[in-house]
Amino acid sequence: MLGRKITKPNGAEREVSPETYIQHGGVEARWSEYAHILPIYQTTAFGSPSALASKEMFDRLAGALPARDGPGDLFYTRYNNPNFEVLEDRLSVVIAGAEKAVVFSSGMAAIDTVCRTFLRPGDGLIFGAPLYGGTYGLFTGDYQEWDIKSAPFPAYAAARDLEAACVEIGGPEKLRMIWVESPGNPLLTQTDIPLCVAFAKQCRDTYGKRVLVVVDDTFLGPIYQQPLELGANISVYSATKYLSGGGTLTAGAAAGSNKDMALVRTKRSHFGPIMSPRDASELMENLKTLYLRMRQHTENARFLAPRLCKHQKVHRVWYPELEAISNTLAAEVMEHNRCSASGAMISFTLEGGVEAARLFLDNLRIVAQMVSLGCTGSIACIPADTTHRGMPIKERRRLGIPDDLIRLSVGIENPHDLWWDIETALDAI
Ligand code: PLP
Repeated sequence: MLGRKITKPNGAEREVSPETYIQHGGVEARWSEYAHILPIYQTTAFGSPSALASKEMFDRLAGALPARDGPGDLFYTRYNNPNFEVLEDRLSVVIAGAEKAVVFSSGMAAIDTVCRTFLRPGDGLIFGAPLYGGTYGLFTGDYQEWDIKSAPFPAYAAARDLEAACVEIGGPEKLRMIWVESPGNPLLTQTDIPLCVAFAKQCRDTYGKRVLVVVDDTFLGPIYQQPLELGANISVYSATKYLSGGGTLTAGAAAGSNKDMALVRTKRSHFGPIMSPRDASELMENLKTLYLRMRQHTENARFLAPRLCKHQKVHRVWYPELEAISNTLAAEVMEHNRCSASGAMISFTLEGGVEAARLFLDNLRIVAQMVSLGCTGSIACIPADTTHRGMPIKERRRLGIPDDLIRLSVGIENPHDLWWDIETALDAI
């Protein structure tokens, strides 16, 4: 099935939904002997039928000849491979508003390649905080070494907060990128995406330079929030998480316009953070159950979050849908972001502080104690001890990340079994 529109010999037509497209899309069965699953093209290079065909292909890649329709020109896997091409095609349908997607060897590879495609020394970046500790380290550590200035703005920021962050990077005229992670890791706080889009436009109109809005949509992705439809330029994903769900590979993805993704893809080819064709094939298979998995993850989180809230040993729970009941700002941002559900990450603290939190984790038997998330099996960790360990304590305190915060990635197990595991672990403290 190439393209979402199917036309039958009798003229019957239908544009299939993304759920259907991720099962079959982006490939003609005859290309691979009608194999049901796209074979793994485990090869570093692709040959050419003639020297002239090879020259013409490189002329097309250099832009000296127009691109041709149909499958992309294949010559070397660091540039392209059928397993990436089909996966990218399916992702561009699943990620609403995307013209094109580009895949990477990890989420961090996607984040770094997107940033280094569009940022240059002297440029400024502002980001919503808190956010994933690895991204925080990249922005505030590595990029400072290359003279890319960055400054955070708080959760639920208003335009005046974005203005204040711009002062820290040397003024709004320096601003080239606004980075949003919403819900943010690990407090699941939100950032108003349309507000960031309007702010970027205002800066571009005033200073004449493009300001990109990039959204790390890993936590909801890409089912419950569509950043590109809200006007963001690029969505990025740690495909290691929900997009894959299996916990067997690391991968990343970026999606946006054809023009922006062509630039990102060129940098990926130059920097080299590509997936292996085997991982691309596995991710493509896992992607087929994305909608089913996300529904069950969310249903389970909706079962657990209110129970945690009511438990006497639980001090506080962070879960966007529940937050929106008592916090009008959270409800407003959720509405502006057209967020249809909160996903399946829940954070909470216990009465008894960090000792109780560690004891709780040690008494879990179904929920695994580790740092990843978005897998079919539930996972829990203490971010201050692990994923956000690299963030200076002062900064963690300023952002309101408690030392004893527990971050739970709710899996797709039987929810009653999960609650039993959690409740008995709470009994043990
Ligand atoms: N973005 C978010 C929100 C994350 O939580 C993570 C990792 O946990 C990343 C990006 C990085 O992804 P990866 O581990 O695939 O490099």
